[in-house]
Amino acid sequence: MSVLDIPGEIVPLDKEQQGKLRRDFHPAELLLVCLNQICPRGPQQKPADSPPNPNQSSEELFHTLLNKLSQVLDFESKGNTITSMTVVKYEEKFTYVFASNQRKTPALKKAREGLSEILNILKSNLEASSKEPDTVIEERLMHKILWWNHVRVRSYLQFLSKELQRCMERCDSTPDATAAKEGLAKLAQSLPDLTDSKEKSDAYIQATARCIQAIQANRNTPLQKYISARSADDHNKLIKGGSWSNLQHVAGRLLSYRYAVEVLVHAHHTWAETDLFRDFEIKSVRSSEPYPAEANLLNAVPETADLILNRAPGSDKNRQALKKNAADLEKYELNKHLEQLWAAKAQEGMRPIVHCEILLHSWLLSTDGGVQSHRFFQGWRYIGTSKPLCRMCTEYFTAISTPVQFRAGHPNSYLNFRLPDPYVSPKQNGKVQRQKEARQRWCEDLGKMKGRVYASVAKVLEEKVAEWKRFDSNTYTDRVKSVNGDGGAGDVGLLARFLGGVNIKGT
Ligand SMILES: [Zn+2]
Repeated sequence: MSVLDIPGEIVPLDKEQQGKLRRDFHPAELLLVCLNQICPRGPQQKPADSPPNPNQSSEELFHTLLNKLSQVLDFESKGNTITSMTVVKYEEKFTYVFASNQRKTPALKKAREGLSEILNILKSNLEASSKEPDTVIEERLMHKILWWNHVRVRSYLQFLSKELQRCMERCDSTPDATAAKEGLAKLAQSLPDLTDSKEKSDAYIQATARCIQAIQANRNTPLQKYISARSADDHNKLIKGGSWSNLQHVAGRLLSYRYAVEVLVHAHHTWAETDLFRDFEIKSVRSSEPYPAEANLLNAVPETADLILNRAPGSDKNRQALKKNAADLEKYELNKHLEQLWAAKAQEGMRPIVHCEILLHSWLLSTDGGVQSHRFFQGWRYIGTSKPLCRMCTEYFTAISTPVQFRAGHPNSYLNFRLPDPYVSPKQNGKVQRQKEARQRWCEDLGKMKGRVYASVAKVLEEKVAEWKRFDSNTYTDRVKSVNGDGGAGDVGLLARFLGGVNIKGT
């Protein structure tokens, strides 16, 4: 089977687990999201895109490769197709195993087809008696990737078109602005015809590729510097979603396909003599199922910040300090915003999913070899992702101390996070007892997550600066680090306060 299931049966949430989510986890998570929305933003993030780094080690290049392959399988916006990927020996063959946030079986099949077509371009070149020049391979890959990603790419192009117009309108008559306006107009002319309904036609895709080339040609030009300077200005003036930063972001997203292609070609030369691009399988892990509708995960009546902070772990003194800090934030109408966010979420319904990187990690843990290095390509224990890790996933992997490495995270939290589902084998004896133990382990993990979420809440309350990032995409995938020991959950002292003074570095 090409769709892999985690072996065993899911242990369904019981009333106690539901109660813990309702009391200990989701309220604190909502408070954290709300605080990050209302507090002023922290320092500006790094530039969203950078070209492939030629000085990467081969292991780092492999990490980048997995991130790029995940990216090109993330066909659509809105999060359902966010993808994670690893390469392991499975049934005696190197196997690309990927998982997505929410893809049904037919969508998983399509994604496997897409990956297969992309990898087969590289395979054919390696097996051919005379090799094609890199430019030809790059062109083929670009065409294939843009074809599979046509929905997402079209939305980028529409956004780019709109923001180009808005930025041109903002250019005044100074010499710099006039020159920038001309450059922007040229870029606008390079856009494919967005009224063309044949977005999978060769002509349309070739036009898109030319537009991306035009964006690339603009890198390191005075126009790009002008856009970057205006974008930084938007940030400093706290203009959320300013046209200049939007323009910079969306141009970077389109350009990232070009960088993906360059990484793929470089990687196929680097590992030309291995089976990585010559003899491989492709498998996908089944996405998680929603919790049953009767699982009541959020109280209908919104809670105040004080009520939520009353349940923070630690001492009374800590809780008093947190509540005092929260009271200071009434100048931003903390409780009013919290109530609105809560009510909206209660109405929409809490539908948490197992994020794709946790899903893939759980599949690894529950199959032969677990996360031992010998089963991974070159022994490199890495799970690539199409997006940087969300805050909750980073916290989770840090809390469980996995030896697997991941892409660097971003500070945003989402309200759809859930812990991995516990499984038990139906064949073994003592199922009820094993279910009980699995639930206990889940509760312990939830307790750790609770401590980490409250520590994050405390950090924002104390600093009164949001850990906030407008776009959660970036392509600075050459930044590689383990989440272990660097979870980004605030300082160690803070965490220790909320985890009962344990030695964080040792966990
Ligand atoms: Zn996540």
